[in-house]
Amino acid sequence: MHHDQPPIKDLRTRLDQLKAAHLYRRRRVQDAPQQPRAIVDGRPLLSFCSNDYLGLANHPEVIAALQRGAERWGVGSGAAHLVNGHSAAHHALEEALAEFTGYPRALLFSTGYMANLGVIAALAGRGDTVFEDRLNHASLLDGAQLSRATLRRYPHADSAGLDRLLKGGQTRMIATDGVFSMDGDLAPLPALARLAHQAGAWLLVDDAHGLGVLGHGGRGSLDHFGLNPDETTILMGTLGKSFGTFGAFVAGSEDLIETLIQRARSYIYTTATPPALAEATRASLRLAEREDWRRERLQMLIARFRQGADQFGLQLTDSLTPIQPLLAGSAERAIGWSQALEAAGILVGAIRPPTVSEGAARLRITFSAAHAEADVDRLLDALAELPTDH
Ligand SMILES: *Cc1c(COP(=O)(O)O)cnc(C)c1O
Repeated sequence: MHHDQPPIKDLRTRLDQLKAAHLYRRRRVQDAPQQPRAIVDGRPLLSFCSNDYLGLANHPEVIAALQRGAERWGVGSGAAHLVNGHSAAHHALEEALAEFTGYPRALLFSTGYMANLGVIAALAGRGDTVFEDRLNHASLLDGAQLSRATLRRYPHADSAGLDRLLKGGQTRMIATDGVFSMDGDLAPLPALARLAHQAGAWLLVDDAHGLGVLGHGGRGSLDHFGLNPDETTILMGTLGKSFGTFGAFVAGSEDLIETLIQRARSYIYTTATPPALAEATRASLRLAEREDWRRERLQMLIARFRQGADQFGLQLTDSLTPIQPLLAGSAERAIGWSQALEAAGILVGAIRPPTVSEGAARLRITFSAAHAEADVDRLLDALAELPTDH
């Protein structure tokens, strides 16, 4: 028995402890669509915290597709996919996602969190071992725990470290973020794919932050490394980030997808997302794939930011993606920075434990193709003014 969970009477005490440790989280009320010019708690702020990397969340064609979809399909899907909620709109989106990713099949899930739970628990079980990068997204870690397999975490992006751990046991799966959500760096996918093949294991790549941004036409981190779809590599992608809508999908072989339809509980026992949403995603997928200028613009903004930050002597990580963390160390310092930026009219989220490890609190700065160069310059000016004490 463990004593991590507060007894009913202690909730207030535990909440107060979080506040004292600068770990209390508050939701901010947004009053505008996702775009760099945000309105937060009634106040205009220039935002650098959205995952809407390509600037599609508020695109007129995507909005129009959602509206047309609602006229054609109504709002609710009415049931799970296996009952009667699987519409022609969902089906067409799955076919478009398969074609986009180059895999034989794709399967829609309601969220990326649910996709990861569903895939891992469908493919691994008691007696298996699942290996995961230490910095994997919570949903990959939770999926392994739900599966009842043994979960072993290897040092971040360390394929040699993984290789040492793999010696011995029965490996069922290696799971990794393609682009790490809080660091912006890439997993060593070619080495992980080689190790997975040698071990006869699945490689599950969660490309929530790589799709749309990296690779040809935004095909993601596997494509970035020149890795082609194969029988044992599973791609999980989300639709609420670069694609600007909502939901997720898993791409893989015919047999894998049929297995998930039979076995993935987070697929089977939940209502299908609204068909109109699938229509909106088909529109945004087309834009994401065709409009290379969005990726080019993003790379230009990232380069501008990194060059400017370098001039100011800011300590950046070696991320080449729109996720550009600025390490603060303590939660208190990260919060202080975030508040100072907000006073200057800029919104950047402070990321604290347990989302990142103790002592690794940070600002998580993200860029969008919708930012202007002048926005980046304004951010740099504000960062240069941050207090450098403690
Ligand atoms: C956002 C995210 C998810 C979860 O996707 P949702 O669709 O938001 O549930 C999974 N993995 C990673 C790496 C993510 O960043």
